[in-house]
Amino acid sequence: MSSTQFDALELIEPLLRALAKEGYEQPTPIQEQAIPQVLAGRDLLATAQTGTGKTAAFSLPMLQVLNESKSGGQVRALILTPTRELALQIDESFRNYGRFLKLTSTVVLGGVPVGAQVRALRNKPDIVVATPGRLLDLMNQRHVKLDRVEMLVLDEADRMLDMGFVHDVRKIVAVLPNKRQTMLFSATLPSWVQAVARKFLRADKR
Ligand code: AMP
Repeated sequence: MSSTQFDALELIEPLLRALAKEGYEQPTPIQEQAIPQVLAGRDLLATAQTGTGKTAAFSLPMLQVLNESKSGGQVRALILTPTRELALQIDESFRNYGRFLKLTSTVVLGGVPVGAQVRALRNKPDIVVATPGRLLDLMNQRHVKLDRVEMLVLDEADRMLDMGFVHDVRKIVAVLPNKRQTMLFSATLPSWVQAVARKFLRADKR
């Protein structure tokens, strides 16, 4: 069993305090491996199932990086995920882990009226967690600008592509700055996910 603690991963005190509040004692293997890579600014390709702690593996170092260079007033991190349930869970994780930081996040998902999401986007949250279809709609209606995104997560990439989101994801990624950090998480790595990874990631770290 691993004996690494979260503070050994060089997470800042407000994050450690939030983790203590969550009752987390030790990082899971994916957290132990991914957190230092993301903190170092590297791209990441990781195979991980839901339940392994992958959400914290990306959200903790993202919060830390965003907090280091607070420059508000624009969307700086985008997380794309296939389902409403995942989007809500990820947004909640960002809020919980970031409870002692001043970063803001919002969730954009289909199947509910757009009004509240449009209003939330007007406040220019630092972090947007979204399902691809609704985000693309809101981009097309100019309710969200993504030209300052520094960090991108493609969560459950295999499911996202299976569910037919591949064209939406491509269109969204096309408007993001090329100079950004990209993290791709997938339960499986079929060849088409690997092709997406080759296209979207710089020299990858698995
Ligand atoms: P995920 O794989 O991201 O969906 O996380 C699965 C569950 O594990 C979530 O309920 C998390 O709150 C929980 N979790 C994540 N990391 C840890 C940890 N290091 N210690 C205890 N629980 C954790």
